[in-house]
Amino acid sequence: MQLIDNYNFAGKKAIVRVDFNVPLHKETKEVTDDTRIRGALPTINKILSDGGSVILMSHMGRPKKNPDPQFSLKQIISKLSENLGGKEIKFVEDCLKAQSEASSLQAGEILLLENLRFYEEEEGKPRVADDASDEEKVAAKAQVKESQQDFIKTLASYADVYVNDAFGTAHRAHASTALIADLFDENNKMFGFLINSELKSMDLVLQSKDTPKTAIMGGAKVSDKIQIISRLLPTMDNLIIGGGMTYTFIKAQGGQIGNSLCEEDKLDLALDILKKAKENNVQVYLPVDAVNADKFDANAKTSVSKTDETPDGWMGLDIADETIALFSKVISESKIVLWNGPMGVFEMDKFSKGTSSVAHALAEATEKGAFTLVGGGDSVAAINKNKLADKVSYVSTGGGAMLEYMEGKQLPGIAAIRGE
Ligand code: AMP
Repeated sequence: MQLIDNYNFAGKKAIVRVDFNVPLHKETKEVTDDTRIRGALPTINKILSDGGSVILMSHMGRPKKNPDPQFSLKQIISKLSENLGGKEIKFVEDCLKAQSEASSLQAGEILLLENLRFYEEEEGKPRVADDASDEEKVAAKAQVKESQQDFIKTLASYADVYVNDAFGTAHRAHASTALIADLFDENNKMFGFLINSELKSMDLVLQSKDTPKTAIMGGAKVSDKIQIISRLLPTMDNLIIGGGMTYTFIKAQGGQIGNSLCEEDKLDLALDILKKAKENNVQVYLPVDAVNADKFDANAKTSVSKTDETPDGWMGLDIADETIALFSKVISESKIVLWNGPMGVFEMDKFSKGTSSVAHALAEATEKGAFTLVGGGDSVAAINKNKLADKVSYVSTGGGAMLEYMEGKQLPGIAAIRGE
């Protein structure tokens, strides 16, 4: 497999799949979080400093037509340029009509293509009317699959080498993230620096022999996290559970959960996880106390109770102080920590303390020498909100991709480069 560190881009045109699917301000349309743009800079800078030129391609949002101006990548040009010291970014308004701009691109120049998802070929999903018959849907799907070949051929024709640095979409078998790799020989396709760092961080968590190793799983549902939890159990020493999924575990063990979130059909699964954790000598930490609310509302009345004694009519929306102390201690004594998912409804101030406390505990553990990996949109948002991004070891740019990789699934964008 080709490695970007060893590759000399001098005189080459590189087409780079980046993930510039960044959030925009509702009114001003300015980029509100440029983490993903900054993530792509090492790769862009390496190509330019070698004496190559860069053709950037990405998706943004979920456009339903071509063009769909609210999802135009034009909107990120000034932020990208700012991150590259004011460098000029050339732009083509149609990703399939960049032949002349690509062929006249000079060493040191950057060309950005318009949103790939303006074309249904990018995702391979046809845009059929809701009332289309099943036969029409099948025919439309076959048609898109066929035209995907022309789509990738056109994109590949712009460049000598393909670099995939879009970790956020690595779990998608899309045209630009996976299929296009087949059109480049083994020596001329590779991961960018961002994907390399993501893979290195996840492999370190999975494979490190340093102990204690702690996984913190939060968020709304057990069902979303069951696979990653099962995969992690044999390698972890501690499993901390927080967030809405807590209550499925508490109810499964006979606790009173009031109106808290609960997946009634996952009670057996919760017991099964606890059993498997015991078999694997994993210490499970569930919240012992909670901040309860009388309704799901930012201005709700609050009270604190034991997690398994939630009063009728109340719902647990955050972990409370005793739990915060317990979780913080376990985290601060760990050598490897993985965190995915908030401890409560952190979007509402009244229920954000638990999640912020966990973010701070990770920072403390990192300072004491632990390797700490944070993934998933909400945990990353909490780290950023607490200004701790540079106080943890690694913040993943891909929530879904990270979960799937750590679940042991094959990611099409990774497999396409590795030749798996
Ligand atoms: P997920 O997408 O599964 O990681 O879940 C994230 C969502 O879970 C966030 O929007 C949180 O507000 C929500 N959440 C966390 N804790 C709770 C809770 N105790 N009750 C209801 N929702 C919660």
